[in-house]
Amino acid sequence: MEYLNIFRKKSIPIGVSVSHIHISREHLDKLFGEGYELTPRNYLTQKGEFASEEIVTLINHTKKLENIRILGPVRDRTQVELSRTNAIRLELNPPIRDSGNHEDTPGITIIGQAGSITIIKGVILAMRHIHMSPKDADFFHVRDSEIVQFLCGEQRRLIFDSVIVRVNKNYVLDFHIDTDEANAAGINTGDTGYLIKFSRGLSNKKESRRERTLITETDVLAHLNKGEKLIVTKDTIFTPLALDLARKHNFV
Ligand SMILES: [Zn+2]
Repeated sequence: MEYLNIFRKKSIPIGVSVSHIHISREHLDKLFGEGYELTPRNYLTQKGEFASEEIVTLINHTKKLENIRILGPVRDRTQVELSRTNAIRLELNPPIRDSGNHEDTPGITIIGQAGSITIIKGVILAMRHIHMSPKDADFFHVRDSEIVQFLCGEQRRLIFDSVIVRVNKNYVLDFHIDTDEANAAGINTGDTGYLIKFSRGLSNKKESRRERTLITETDVLAHLNKGEKLIVTKDTIFTPLALDLARKHNFV
């Protein structure tokens, strides 16, 4: 039997990412000058992460996208995260990738206030994901890299599939999607949603109790054949035929 668990006891905050870039130390030097330091504009939910005051322009041949913000702090590699709408505007078709995976991704030209660079890869559509601590992972019965579903929105309620779980002791519980995905569900940063998980078998105590409490005629017969006594509690429910049979054999 397959169960659909909606973890309604713990809502998850939603963070919508507008198209942005992460930058390496080397590339920041080229775009803004040697030794340049990013200026935090506002801090994000994940520890130490911030949107900076610095913005760049992205260019692919004749197509241009302005006012793309740099997220800090600097990283090992430069990465450009676009919504699909913005990728289409730039005539690019980047694949959906987990952050840091640049295999078979297109490049782009980035212009800053002091210079420009052209990267040969690193443009991605970010895979939607949920950040969580090991404690949260325990609560939701999930592991790092597990794929789950996420329920959100009201009038445009959606269940997002293919959501990757990211577990790290430094992570704060947050569901991350881009502007296209958020717009499809009519949701904004600060809204909340629920993790959904499909699982096989008895998934939690409540359901397992419910499952065990319904006794059918077949159950009674099975116990009779094995010569076992039925364990009956106040939560046990019998079908009418099962109750007749159980009474006949002094089970209840
Ligand atoms: Zn994230």
